[in-house]
Amino acid sequence: MDVAGVRLGLVVYMDMDSFFAACEELRHPELKGKPFVVGTSSDTDSRGVVQTASYEARKYGIKSGMGLFMAKKAYPELVVLKSDEVYYESTSDKIMAVLNGFGFPVEQNSVDEAAIDVGDVGYDKAIEIGKEIKGRIKEKIDLPCTIGVSFGKYFAKMMCDASKPDGFGVLRESEIQGFLRGKPIGKLPGVGKKTEERLLAMGIKTIDDLANANLQSLISKFGSAAIEMHNLARGIDESRIVQYNIIKSIGRERTLDSDTNDIAVQEKMLLTLSEEVSKDAAGKGFWFKAVGLKVRYSDFSQITRSRQLSHYSSSKEDIYRIAKDLLRDTQADISVRKLGVRVFMLIKRSGQATL
Ligand SMILES: [Mg+2]
Repeated sequence: MDVAGVRLGLVVYMDMDSFFAACEELRHPELKGKPFVVGTSSDTDSRGVVQTASYEARKYGIKSGMGLFMAKKAYPELVVLKSDEVYYESTSDKIMAVLNGFGFPVEQNSVDEAAIDVGDVGYDKAIEIGKEIKGRIKEKIDLPCTIGVSFGKYFAKMMCDASKPDGFGVLRESEIQGFLRGKPIGKLPGVGKKTEERLLAMGIKTIDDLANANLQSLISKFGSAAIEMHNLARGIDESRIVQYNIIKSIGRERTLDSDTNDIAVQEKMLLTLSEEVSKDAAGKGFWFKAVGLKVRYSDFSQITRSRQLSHYSSSKEDIYRIAKDLLRDTQADISVRKLGVRVFMLIKRSGQATL
């Protein structure tokens, strides 16, 4: 498949259903089918909020972000569990290991979401792979997920969202225009709360409105990000999978002692990770040509960034310098929970390339 000379592939998008709540059901089977929530605290008199509500709790109007006090008011017998991030992360690692086992490039977008680039295999094969992924997660982890299959990761994600829970959705190229028609602007991936408000203020309410909007005036308001947004609204998804978990890569990641905004603390961790990664790479006899950074924030959202060098390197300084640059480019108001450093595009010192 070819759009403007760029080769694009099919994407299988996986998102776990009500992830934190599902993890709790796994170790507390007695909660199955009951209204319960995972909250920032287990004390409903506190100022804590709901992080994830079980599907049964949602029937009472209880949802993420709601105060625990209000949630308890909506359903007085509500069971409230305190969030156990270490447990959810270790479950997440097992899920990502299953996905990486398929051998396709995987882009992890949060603790429980990932895009898998299955390439130019055709819809029948992509659907088969998607069903295998869903089946294997159920078999190995015993948790439900929803899968969306489409052309480009954003449309695959939209189809996944539209098929929840425990679903499987396929959006073919010929159906994309019809699927987008009439949908509120907030449903478009990448349109966050702030962008949504600004678009609404411009009178752009639906995805169709955005498709018909003047690109130049969008660019003047939103900068170059407007191009991708405008393209998506018109049914064009040119997104690429940013592969971080390449099998042939060497990396380390670690949770900080406590969530922090302090760049000095974050850089100190990066230095330690860079030293360990360079030692590991040297021990295995590899040089590298690219360095990747992973940042997980206190709300469990996560970003990955990478940069290529102009040459193969074995230097710890190269790893640290690039990781530090990438970190500075990703500074946000939210505090950081975990950092990861990785080198890839590896070459054996004997000269044999292994991508
Ligand atoms: Mg999810």
